[in-house]
Amino acid sequence: MGLNVIMMGPPGAGKGTQAGRFARERGLLKISTGDILREAIKEQNEVALAAKAGMDRGELVDDATMITIVRDRLLRPDAAAGFVLDGFPRTVVQARALDEIMEERDNGPLIVIDVVVPEEELVRRLASRRICSKCGANADPFGAAVTCGKCGGELVQRTDDNSDVVLERLKVYQRATHPVLEFYRERPTFRVVNGAQAPERVAHEMDTLIEDAAAAGVAMKASAERSV
Ligand SMILES: [Zn+2]
Repeated sequence: MGLNVIMMGPPGAGKGTQAGRFARERGLLKISTGDILREAIKEQNEVALAAKAGMDRGELVDDATMITIVRDRLLRPDAAAGFVLDGFPRTVVQARALDEIMEERDNGPLIVIDVVVPEEELVRRLASRRICSKCGANADPFGAAVTCGKCGGELVQRTDDNSDVVLERLKVYQRATHPVLEFYRERPTFRVVNGAQAPERVAHEMDTLIEDAAAAGVAMKASAERSV
């Protein structure tokens, strides 16, 4: 049975890092919407190429496009063991479509992890976030390195990361994802992880809650089948 996880959480909560770690440890496909779009564009996928043309004109990628690309990716054989999705669904329309894709896959429950961090802590983290001046990679927020681990470039503070900009980004995130969180919140497979801890503690809590949610999801499906 597949281990299917979606990661929710504001910028600065560390969800991308945790998503990557969890996928690596469990041999799952990690899918972030940016990566999946780039991959589809490389494969000359028509829908993705149209989306890229739109993005080049400054447009956002619409729900239908995102759903088509994610569906195509999740139904491939290398996603059979499960996946960790980062950055999708962003809207309730996408969340409903994901439920349909999950039925089509028929391979384990959908586990929803919300990584929560208090706003003051997010502002503090984002305002001190450093990126590589050469390749743009994010520096380890807990590390003391002065050069990029990937290319050796100099690490600099992100220029858009002053508190006002950070607060505005957090507001935009909350407005956009609040309905999606409400869409999932009452499910037995929804779990909240405290992201305001050291990364290894977040990892431990997240792993425990995912196991717990997976068991709840299996029980839910079994009881639904009995009542049919
Ligand atoms: Zn670099």
